[in-house]
Amino acid sequence: MTNILNEIQHIMHTDAIIIDNIPKQYCEDWRKNFIGKPLAVVQPSNVQQISQLVKICQKYPTPIVTQGGNTSLCGASIADNSQTQIVLNLQKMHKIHSINTINRSIYVEAGCTLKQVQQVAMQHDLLYPLSLPSEQYCTIGGNLSTNAGGVSVLKYGNTRQLCLNIEAVLADGSIYNSQQKQLYKNNMGYDIKQLLIGAEGTLGIITAACLRLYPLPKKYHALWLCVPEFDDVLTLFEILQLHFAHALSSFEVMNDLSILCVKNAFPELFNYDFLHILKNTHTWHILVEIEQHGVSIDIEAEIKACFKKNTCIFTYESYQPQQNSVLWNIRHHIPHAQKKQGGNIKHDISLDLQYMADFIATMPQNIYNIDANAKIIVFGHIGDGNLHYNVIASKEYTAYIQTCIYKHVKSKHGSIAAEHGIGQLKTKLLCESINANEYQAMQKIKHIFDPNNILNPNTIFNALL
Ligand SMILES: Cc1cc2nc3c(=O)[nH]c(=O)nc-3n(C[C@H](O)[C@H](O)[C@H](O)COP(=O)(O)OP(=O)(O)OC[C@H]3O[C@@H](n4cnc5c(N)ncnc54)[C@H](O)[C@@H]3O)c2cc1C
Repeated sequence: MTNILNEIQHIMHTDAIIIDNIPKQYCEDWRKNFIGKPLAVVQPSNVQQISQLVKICQKYPTPIVTQGGNTSLCGASIADNSQTQIVLNLQKMHKIHSINTINRSIYVEAGCTLKQVQQVAMQHDLLYPLSLPSEQYCTIGGNLSTNAGGVSVLKYGNTRQLCLNIEAVLADGSIYNSQQKQLYKNNMGYDIKQLLIGAEGTLGIITAACLRLYPLPKKYHALWLCVPEFDDVLTLFEILQLHFAHALSSFEVMNDLSILCVKNAFPELFNYDFLHILKNTHTWHILVEIEQHGVSIDIEAEIKACFKKNTCIFTYESYQPQQNSVLWNIRHHIPHAQKKQGGNIKHDISLDLQYMADFIATMPQNIYNIDANAKIIVFGHIGDGNLHYNVIASKEYTAYIQTCIYKHVKSKHGSIAAEHGIGQLKTKLLCESINANEYQAMQKIKHIFDPNNILNPNTIFNALL
């Protein structure tokens, strides 16, 4: 046993460190694109243990790859295969410290799953609005570190907007901000938490957080609409926003191939009579969620009144967010269906909505010019200008297709990493996509926080670039 492992064993419970036969779940990413060989996996149970661990890793210069639920889609939470990196997995830190109903906030450990926090909030008639298809597994620390988006950003914002306070262990082992501050207003100097949010574990290890809660709506209305043209999707979005204003909480789009992909992989999700209509060919499917806080509304009548041209296929109401499960299950299963299908070239892009119609109109032909047999699966949070634009094509065309898509996105000042982050997957792309000043500013921040580069050294930056 090496010295570093001996020292770590001194500060951890015996079952909190795995050295031999490390289970795959800690070494492989969700998409199975990255397979690592860590020196050990460590699962602390409190912030002091993490602080001590970081000090030991500084002493024996040893990188730490922080891991939550390991649902990253860009290989951000996987060690490299040098067998020199420690995976720090926070899943055992899942205490709900307190829920403050008058202040509408909850203070939780970073290893709590998103689902756990949603459920505790709901037990108190409050809403933690972040919602992702991975919510059963992903953790609050992971959500914060990726500034996760999901299906309710339209109304509630990204995770950044939902966070009031963060406790973290910094690269020298010091504990930053251990008081359970739960303030909506706090302008006492620099807001360091904003740097830690979205830093993908490269600037510190988030150990706890205070999150904003909202009043729980009385009801949710889910609507499934189909329209023939993409322009109709955007028109519908504008009209619904004007009509429902802040009650509109989700506006998701899916093309017909996304639906077909789910149907092939999970036919049981379509065993409902009313879904027969999805057998007809519609180019674009839209899933909308509208919250009802006060008096009841006749949602179908209102939709028909405000957008006569479209067919409102089905509406559903429920008492919990995204629990109109027949409809939401189809949307949430697209990534799972794509995983089953395999072989996708994935793009997580965002654009100013004014450029979206042009992107949708021009991109397919550009892709067919590269591979005439390509198939394009498009879905995403169109209300936020964020699309998952995934192409099934022959492997040899991957680089050409990616270049074609990213070139267009960059020309419109869009983002090549809208919500899943950079991880190990897009380090080169990041360097090519932002200007040198921006990149250097990020490097300087990394150097101040982590001068010895021990926190997630392969994520966001690549030492070889
Ligand atoms: C089916 C599926 C659907 C998804 N849909 C969405 C979606 O709609 N929107 C979206 O934004 N994402 C989505 N994701 C991506 C992923 O679920 C999110 O990025 C999630 O926030 C990651 O949480 P995690 O706990 O799994 O983090 P991990 O995957 O374990 O880690 C992600 C990153 O955060 C860092 N990290 C984790 N915990 C901490 C911590 N405590 N302190 C510091 N750094 C930490 C890791 O080092 C890594 O860089 C989806 C993933 C899947 C598998």
